[in-house]
Amino acid sequence: MPTHLKTGRSKSFADTSQDDVRERVQGIIADIRTRGDEAVSAYAETFDRWTGDLRLSAERVQEIIATLPQQVIDDIVFVQSQVRHFAEVQRASMTDVEVETLPGVFLGHRHVPVQAAGAYIPGGKYPLTASAHMTIVTAKVAGVPRVVACTPPIRGEIPAATVAAMHLAGADEIWILGGVQAVAAMAVGTASMARVDLIAGPGNAYVAEAKRQLFGEVGIDLFAGPTEILVVADEEADPFLVAVDLLSQAEHGPESPAVLVTSSERVAREAMAHVERILPGMPTADYAGPAWRDYGQVIVTEDLDEAYAVADSFASEHVQIFTAEPRVALEKMVHYGALFLGENTCVSYGDKVIGTNHVLPTLGAARYTGGLWVGKYLRTATYQEIRDTTSSGELGRVCGRASRVELFEGHARSGDARAARHLGDRFDW
Ligand code: NAD
Repeated sequence: MPTHLKTGRSKSFADTSQDDVRERVQGIIADIRTRGDEAVSAYAETFDRWTGDLRLSAERVQEIIATLPQQVIDDIVFVQSQVRHFAEVQRASMTDVEVETLPGVFLGHRHVPVQAAGAYIPGGKYPLTASAHMTIVTAKVAGVPRVVACTPPIRGEIPAATVAAMHLAGADEIWILGGVQAVAAMAVGTASMARVDLIAGPGNAYVAEAKRQLFGEVGIDLFAGPTEILVVADEEADPFLVAVDLLSQAEHGPESPAVLVTSSERVAREAMAHVERILPGMPTADYAGPAWRDYGQVIVTEDLDEAYAVADSFASEHVQIFTAEPRVALEKMVHYGALFLGENTCVSYGDKVIGTNHVLPTLGAARYTGGLWVGKYLRTATYQEIRDTTSSGELGRVCGRASRVELFEGHARSGDARAARHLGDRFDW
């Protein structure tokens, strides 16, 4: 039986849709439907104290980029090349198919990009520059012709590095706009912003609720809420690195769970001691502290197999494996957003530099979806063609019978008509 050395609150998906958030989001969306741009500007001012231009002109984007040190630009270019490379390999793995299933009967599918995508790049607490790489570069690799990118100002300022990342990633429109107002404007459209077909990107409870309420009218990638980390460790693990990596994700926000599951009580206790020592000195302790206090968990298991089973039951967004044979996790675990194998490979690399996508499922959504990837921007659309008249007639006979079982006389007659034309069947219509 696993033992909890530290208990913490667990959040479920249901917790995200609190009544007050739901009602507020509903009201903002309704208002934006009615008043369009006027409402969008009003909410930008109310929630983000932003009264400047919402859409940046090409000249303004260049001015903003010019304020950045060259190293920042070089790093953005490097990371985007990593993200692009992996996304291109993933795109190449998605081949179109066509098969002849009966003589002259051809079935196929093509992967067709959505024609307009919205990229939401969070910015309430941190300028999440890397989210621009993940949402925009990936959309462009998928072949999306129009990408609208939105990010809020941070404490009244334009996040310059995020704007540079949006531009370098290939965004077609760059907006300083966040929260519900950004999601709603992209989903329903306004006089100044044509609506998009799909919205991707992580965000806080308001952003997630807006995506939930607008889903159907617009496509969404997934629910990517407050970041989570779960570490699986054995006796070989370095407790210091375990502690550092737990805190690296707890700093995302006061509701970001950091969970350690280990077969070694010594590693658990030492990692906890390191956390307590490191936390107070972190510049982001205001977020990481409450996150660790309220949502941090430390669980000691009988053995590593039990640790994998416990870890799997969380279906955590990020799972980091600190064991002597980390690749075993690929066999033992099925529920996770992304796996980070071995102590050389930390979640921060996934978030910032390595090239896999960091927009990942949280709150157990990893049970039914992976993270954002090039395939999310593509629709798998089928087609079919019958070139052989005998096959068309024979399928027509089956269609007639199968349709009448379902009481669909109109469908049946479409089949009958072909059986008559190609095989000479007689029907009394
Ligand atoms: P955000 O951009 O999601 O939210 C900021 C916006 O929230 C503001 O523009 C404002 O309009 C709106 N807002 C704030 N208070 C409001 C209120 N009271 N009423 C209505 N609207 C309000 O940025 P954030 O808040 O920093 O959240 C980002 C989230 O994204 C974090 O929880 C982080 O953990 C998460 N994240 C998740 C992933 C993932 O893949 N799962 C990746 C990166 C970030």
